[in-house]
Order: sequence, then structure tokens, then C-alpha cells
Amino acid sequence: MAYRAEFRCVRGCDVAYPLDAVVYRCEACGGLLEVVHDEAAWQRRSPASWMKLFDDRYLRNAWPYGSGVWGKKEWVQPHVADENVVSLFEGGTNMFWAERYGASLGLSDLWIKQCGISHTGSFKDLGMTVLVSTVKQMIADGKPIRAVVCASTGDTSAALAAYGAAAGIDVVVLLPEAKVTAAQLVQPLANGALVCSLATDFDGCMRVVQRLSEDPDLYLANSMNSLRVEGQKTLSIEIVQQFDWEVPDWVLVPGGNLGNVSAIAKGFTEMLRAGLIDRMPRIACCQAARANPLYRAYAKARAEGRDLREEDFEPVEAGPTLASAIRIGAPVSLPKAVRALVAARGVVEQATEAELADAAARADRTGLFNCPHTGVALACLEKLVARGEIRPDDRVVVVSTAHGLKFTEFKTRYHEGTLDVPARHRNVPVEVPGEVEAARDAILRALDHRDARAEQHGGGRRVR
Ligand SMILES: *Cc1c(COP(=O)(O)O)cnc(C)c1O
Ligand SMILES: [Zn+2]
Repeated sequence: MAYRAEFRCVRGCDVAYPLDAVVYRCEACGGLLEVVHDEAAWQRRSPASWMKLFDDRYLRNAWPYGSGVWGKKEWVQPHVADENVVSLFEGGTNMFWAERYGASLGLSDLWIKQCGISHTGSFKDLGMTVLVSTVKQMIADGKPIRAVVCASTGDTSAALAAYGAAAGIDVVVLLPEAKVTAAQLVQPLANGALVCSLATDFDGCMRVVQRLSEDPDLYLANSMNSLRVEGQKTLSIEIVQQFDWEVPDWVLVPGGNLGNVSAIAKGFTEMLRAGLIDRMPRIACCQAARANPLYRAYAKARAEGRDLREEDFEPVEAGPTLASAIRIGAPVSLPKAVRALVAARGVVEQATEAELADAAARADRTGLFNCPHTGVALACLEKLVARGEIRPDDRVVVVSTAHGLKFTEFKTRYHEGTLDVPARHRNVPVEVPGEVEAARDAILRALDHRDARAEQHGGGRRVR
């Protein structure tokens, strides 16, 4: 086969494992593994020819290459046979030009990458297609895998359950009791997964699932399993592709377990080495202030005027946050994230509950429908712009990680005014009589009232 890849230790131990081995950590040092490709094979093809190949396949019909992930198969998982690919047409999501929201911040080139417009409503589909396809290949090759298991803050389990169901592979999900939304709970139930509700938080579920997966019959689907990173890194390729192969100046992404920020940096680094791009974007990892261990480590390194190091990090007990999918105090992918941030001259920022809720709602006013995690990234964007780190003409991409419809309680309660935040962009229904004339009067009065308010607040210009 022309293209090859294997697992290696991120700390550089002299170990290598095939991608169909049931192994999640380096057997020499216990560190994380990552997928390392035979990049010399990539380099035998010109950058222009890779770009053309990826463009020719993008959103077309030849199975499975129309998928945003599998269109880059040689860079992702070359050993999986096409008939074992489990794809639900992931990737290929809209790059929303945030013209009005950007203008309100003084930015002319702001984009929101809508990863939540996906089969299960979050970016987790990008990684899960790769993991479940690899498992299907392993089962086809005779490996005795009984089920795939994960701990989740809600979106990983939804993705695993859907891909497992599509492939006919059993799925077990561990959820922290009462800490996921109704939509996130019903997704794996509907897809027939074995759903376990544990009386602990996500970090507790993670500890249990790591022990469970010591049994080789139970294959681990958390992002500690670096197969998922291979799917998620295609997000970077797709971003550049959507700008006709130009690199943005900034990519902002909310971070919890820190798999996604690591994956995004890996995608850009590999494109750089293969000559598809000529520079790295800067990456901003955005955390909720109540679950901010990476932010704390970064602030410490910055105060000492040096790069972030792994030793700066201390786990925290993550507090309750509206951004429930990033309520994580001991992120598994920390070592990869530290390297990613150093490679991408990265920054880490944080947002309070009020800041994330208002930023999500403010951007919603310009046509978006943001989940709270995207709200965290938007609030951090507003801070980086205010500080002058992001400049007015920078091209900025904010990665929106999930669909707002998975978090309707958050959005409903914001507008009802029942969240414990000031809710500066509330919008409430107006009661209108049922007769035509009276209804017209009430509607016109309400419109006048809105115009007056918009003027009062400035910048509320409406295009008629
Ligand atoms: C999983 C998730 C994140 C965090 O991604 P990590 O890779 O854990 O940092 C952010 N937002 C949403 C909606 C998620 O589901
Ligand atoms: Zn090692």
C-alpha cells in the first residue's frame, strides 16, 4: 500500500504500534500516543495535486470521498477499506461570514465555522467516523471487540451511538448524572446504546472508562484514543480549502478535554510540512472560567514571560457551567495541547457565565444560533479584539462546536431571564390581540419601541 501510518509516543519513546492494535498509551512511559503518517509518501505528490484531489472530491458522490473527512483518506486512515468506512457525510459544514457581528466588533473578515451542522449536531462526528470505521475494519479482520465505550459530556456519546448504530456495533456510554442536556441524553437512547448514568462528574466517568477499557473486548472511544484526532484534524484542511487554500490569521476554539485544539494544530502542521500552506495561523483556546485549568497554566507562564510548559498545569475540580461540554478539570490531551499552542503561537483566554451567554446571544442577533461553548469562544474573541491582539483586518475563524438546538434550555432560559446572568440581549414574546386592527396597532407599536431602544443602545442599525 502506498500510504502508511502508525501510533507513536508523543514523548518520543522508541515504540510504534499498528493502527489496528488495541492500545491507547505508550507501553514504555504511559504517555499519549499519536498517529504518525509516512509523510515522505505524501511529499511524492505535489501540493497542487493534493489540493486538486481534495477539491475534486469535496461534497461529491463517490463513496466515501464526498465526506469532508474521507475526502482526505490518504492523510487520515489509509488502511481502512472503503467498504468498512462508516460515514454519515460528516464535514463539509458551512463557513458563515459573520458580516454584521464582525462589523459590530470592528472586524471585517470574521467567519464562524459551523461544525454543529452535522449528523449528530457537533464536531464530534469528524473524529467518530474515523474511530468507528477503524473498529469495523478491526472486526472484519477478526479482532474480538464486543463493544465500543466512552465517557462523555454529551456530544461524544451522541456521535458514538449514531456511528455505532449505523455500523451495527454495540455502544456503551458513561454520562455524568444530570449534567447533560435532554437532547444529548435522548440521542444515544434513540440510537440504542447502553446508556449508563453515573453519580459523578465527567472526570469521574473518565476514570471509570479508562479502567473498563483495560479489557480488550471493550474498545475506548474517548479522544485519548488518537484515531479521533485524525478525523478532527481535517477541520483545518477544510477551513483552508474554504478560503481557496489561504491560511486565516486566527482560529479560536472552545477547549475542554483539549483534543480538538490539538487536532486543529496537527492539521495545520501537517499541511505546512507537505507544502499545502506556508505559515501557521495563531490559535486561541477558549475556556469557561469555571473549568479553566489550561487558562491558569497559561496565565502563569505568561506572567513569567515564557512559553507554556506541561509542568505549569494543575488539575482543578471543574465547577458548574452553562458550557457543560467543556466542564473538565483534568483534560486528557493536555500534553498535546501544550505542544499545539507553542507551535501556533497560541493564546488561552477565558469567559465567565455572563460573558459567554451574552456573546452567544449578541451573535445570534446576526443570524447565528450559538451553543454555550461557541459563546465561550465568541466572548474570548471580543476580549482579544478589545485588547488589540486580534487586529481589525485579521481573517478570523471561530470554530462553532455544536448546534444551538442541542442546548435549547440554555437559550430559552436566557431569553426568559431565568439564568443567573444579566442577559443584555434578551428578547421576549409580545402579546398581541387576535383581531386584525388591534393586532396591527400592537405590532406597529412594538416595532417603534424596538427602534427607539436600538437607537438608545447605538449600533442597532436595522437594514430595511
Ligand atoms: C467536546 C466539545 C468541546 C470540547 O472539545 P475538546 O476536544 O474536549 O476540547 C467543545 N464544545 C462542544 C460542543 C463539545 O461537544
Ligand atoms: Zn512513551
